[in-house]
Amino acid sequence: MKTEHEERWIVEDRKAIRNPKKLKDHLRLTDEQLVDLMEIRKVFRMKITPYYLSLINKEDPDDPLLKMCLPDKNEMIVRKGELNDPIGDINDELENHPTPLITHRYPDRVLLFPTPFCGGYCRYCFRRRLAGNPDYKYKKSLLEDAFNYLEKTSAIREVILSGGDPLMLHDHELFSLLERLKAIPHIRTIRIHTRMPVWNPYRITDDLVRGLTKFQPLWIVTHFNHPNELSDTAMEHVSRLIDRGIMVLNQEVLLKGVNDTVEIQRELLLTLIENRIKPYYLHYLDKAEGISHFRTDIKTGIDILKELRGTVPGYAIPHYILDIPRGYGKVPFQFHYINEDEKGNIIVETPEGDYVPYSEYCDEKSMGMKEDADVKPIMLFSKEDKEHLKEMLKNGNGK
Ligand code: SF4
Repeated sequence: MKTEHEERWIVEDRKAIRNPKKLKDHLRLTDEQLVDLMEIRKVFRMKITPYYLSLINKEDPDDPLLKMCLPDKNEMIVRKGELNDPIGDINDELENHPTPLITHRYPDRVLLFPTPFCGGYCRYCFRRRLAGNPDYKYKKSLLEDAFNYLEKTSAIREVILSGGDPLMLHDHELFSLLERLKAIPHIRTIRIHTRMPVWNPYRITDDLVRGLTKFQPLWIVTHFNHPNELSDTAMEHVSRLIDRGIMVLNQEVLLKGVNDTVEIQRELLLTLIENRIKPYYLHYLDKAEGISHFRTDIKTGIDILKELRGTVPGYAIPHYILDIPRGYGKVPFQFHYINEDEKGNIIVETPEGDYVPYSEYCDEKSMGMKEDADVKPIMLFSKEDKEHLKEMLKNGNGK
């Protein structure tokens, strides 16, 4: 029998605001905004839970959480380089879509899409073609096709449930799916990507957690983008997973006007690790249709992470990732701390922006010194040398 508390996420979901007209009771909206909202909603879904609304500062039209949930007329502008399927979930050339519910991009992992529905609809969604679209609601036979593929493809080691949001499935649906996966001997780990702890943290019920512990090793990847999303309620519910030994990672998206500053990222990352959630990915925004108003340049993310290095613990720093359009895979962007001077010596930049010479070897020869030299593991440059190096690297003379 369900307890009152366990039902709460369903009530929260039912009460979520889907019609912009109802938003007028909760937010200060101009008539013009309302007309825009009605127009946009014809194209892209909107769904905001009462819980998420409670985190928004209603007096602030620039509230970062508001930007992530409130439709914007910029969404109607589709730019030339934007794509309906930006990360190539379906790319016939790559043959990465063996059955309708699976994307097989890397040899050892697959994405499985058990539902198109989400706890709320993110305005920057990279899968907006399918998120919330009932046409993508799977039929049982499609799930059987997916299991057949998983069973016969022994190279697959991990299944990632993505979506939509897999935690929109009810417990019995989710557990029966996990049971089928667990029964396939070559599948060693299961991952669940979810933004439910952000939209509707009440979904993390004791029943859900108890059930999930049977499917270890299981990784949950949450999707917190801003420190204001890390409410006490959300953290209390996520901690239920961690207390029962389920590993929790977080992936976020770099969003203009939402989290594209060092201060916000520092607060987000520190609060995540204080709550035992490991920052995993910072995604550079995908080229989905109508989301360019959220786009920063690539360098913004590199600069933010560079500034954070040395001022937050290393394990708080996520990988900054580009999902190459059309399904060619993920690659990290990073600042290069390693340079060479004119003579080919390795020069390493410190987190403070100083330069020190470095050699991967420890003998005198490789350090370019005489045999009787007083070898130190790290030689510090003179002030003049540093200035010279800075100038040289700035001018692109080093490699
Ligand atoms: S939860 Fe994920 S799939 Fe759903 S709208 Fe947000 S980004 Fe898209």
